[in-house]
Amino acid sequence: MSRKDWKNIFVLLGSLSKKHKDVLVGLIGLSVFTALRPFVAVILTGLLVDAVYAGKALEELLRYVAVGAGATLLMAVAEAVLVMLFNRKLEYMQEIQARPLNEKSMKMDYEYLENVEVHEMRQRLERLGGWSLTARVLSTLNKIVKEFVTVAVAVCVVVPMFVRGSHPVSQGFIGSWLMSALLLAAVLLLVGFEFKFGSHFNKKLADARKQMSGHETKNKYYLDIMSGYEKQKDLRICKQQRLYEREFEEMAQGIKKTSDKMSQYACWNAFTQQSVSALTGFLVYAFAGALACAGLISIGGVVTYAASILRFTESMGRLVYQLSWMGGNAILAKDYIDYMELPQRKHEGCIPVEKRRDDRFSVEFDHVSFKYPGSDVYVIRDLSLKFEIGERMAIVGKNGSGKTTFIKLLCRLYDVTEGCIKVNDIDIRKYDYAEYCNLFAVVFQDFQVFAFPLGENVAAGSSVDEERAVDALERAGMGERYHGLPGGLDTSIGKEFEESGVTFSGGEKQKIAIARAIYKNAPFVIMDEPTAALDPESECEVYAGFDKMVGRKTAIYISHRLASCRFCQDILVFDRGKVIQRGSHEELERQEGLYRDMWNAQAQYYA
Ligand code: ADP
Repeated sequence: MSRKDWKNIFVLLGSLSKKHKDVLVGLIGLSVFTALRPFVAVILTGLLVDAVYAGKALEELLRYVAVGAGATLLMAVAEAVLVMLFNRKLEYMQEIQARPLNEKSMKMDYEYLENVEVHEMRQRLERLGGWSLTARVLSTLNKIVKEFVTVAVAVCVVVPMFVRGSHPVSQGFIGSWLMSALLLAAVLLLVGFEFKFGSHFNKKLADARKQMSGHETKNKYYLDIMSGYEKQKDLRICKQQRLYEREFEEMAQGIKKTSDKMSQYACWNAFTQQSVSALTGFLVYAFAGALACAGLISIGGVVTYAASILRFTESMGRLVYQLSWMGGNAILAKDYIDYMELPQRKHEGCIPVEKRRDDRFSVEFDHVSFKYPGSDVYVIRDLSLKFEIGERMAIVGKNGSGKTTFIKLLCRLYDVTEGCIKVNDIDIRKYDYAEYCNLFAVVFQDFQVFAFPLGENVAAGSSVDEERAVDALERAGMGERYHGLPGGLDTSIGKEFEESGVTFSGGEKQKIAIARAIYKNAPFVIMDEPTAALDPESECEVYAGFDKMVGRKTAIYISHRLASCRFCQDILVFDRGKVIQRGSHEELERQEGLYRDMWNAQAQYYA
């Protein structure tokens, strides 16, 4: 792991410790405790063996055994309680980890949401599944600290063996400094070998894990298709099962290959670890045995030293393994930090939006050009136009001509690349953003209704003004359906969380989205293909009731169906990011141009 990796881990833990210092303190305490516990048994066993050899009375021996067993039992219970408390804390961390991520997603500049890199970053963080990043880092840290403390304690316990074994030269080669140094060198060499091979296989393991995570993303996607009945419709009707089966088989093969590789590396790792452990054990037992024979250490010492050295080598192996896990965590920690620190690029003004009783707002696009971030193509080109509140404006044009982008710019989901948009003669970037958003009620083409109660969907919040919500539903043409619902506004939409939930049709959902826009009671009502999912009767109903629905507000209407725009006094015809025609239906129909061509092309289907 590089210094940068550690820095990322510490930044993540730093943000955690601000609010949850107790978690870090608890973690260190638990790790030290679990590392020390086995040594109590090791040391007590050594003392017991010595006592036996010293021919101590049975009572004293039993006292040793009782103290040893009691201490071990108490520590085991204490450890179990600590582990339980720590795991509970980890579970809680998992729960709360998603919160800052979601808050950031909701507040970040909209353009980031459509950015592929940002999207992938978020996906990688979500792929942790039920094991959130902080919990994962804490769990790995717990193991690292534990192994590290084990290594340190083992070294401390073993030092006297080398010191005592290297007394006067007269006690022979076994008791000499040279022998101790040679043994130490042999142990370090073996551990170095274990470290090197361990790192090598762990790196391969980390690469394989990365590959596996790619397979898992695919797997999740396929499982989503299989469990979502909406997607199964296309799959069944278009007979795409074979395509799906082929893809799934490929993915399954990929998973199998990668998991074979992973178990191979894990096997090599275990083999190296075990071999080093066995060899070191042999050397140390032989050395300690020889020292004991020479009377330089006690027999109990042989037990204590040999067991400690074995713990040392085993923990070194595990330390290497856990460090490699931490390396993987560090990559994710970088994702997390980068995501949370994505700068707010959109200019946040502070001018309050004028509260007008007469709702009179004028909007002006002043030589506006726009290209999407990361693209060189201008989607809106030198657009200049004005409109006033109370007007009905329709935007028509071919697919991709920039109609939706025009709305996104007006709502400040994106800022213009050149020129400026003004509301009441003030650049919209200067307004307080939240207040500015309140000016608009928008029904997007890809509107969303959520698996919450109907009332909360309409009110877009948990406090629902019932009278207003019912009125909005009635005005959106959902009156009859609504009054037939036994649960009324409490009816859950969809069956995701409530068995008694109601599955609404696409058209009904669109009406609910329209009701939400009406409920908001904003000065501007914008509808992007608002009737695409409606049957002709409902479409007629929405159009007929449109004036009543929006009252004195400004309504901007995007539609492919020119017939549905006839009632608007002001029709803008978009073509490749420009307004090429503007006027009423009668005026435009008389002019030669795109509007008349489109009108004639559509009229033949109505004839
Ligand atoms: P319309 O609503 O008239 O069908 P849009 O405003 O949605 O058209 O799109 C105009 C152009 O902008 C299209 O060529 C489309 O491919 C492009 N576009 C839309 N969204 C994005 C985006 N997020 N990034 C890059 N290009 C986009």
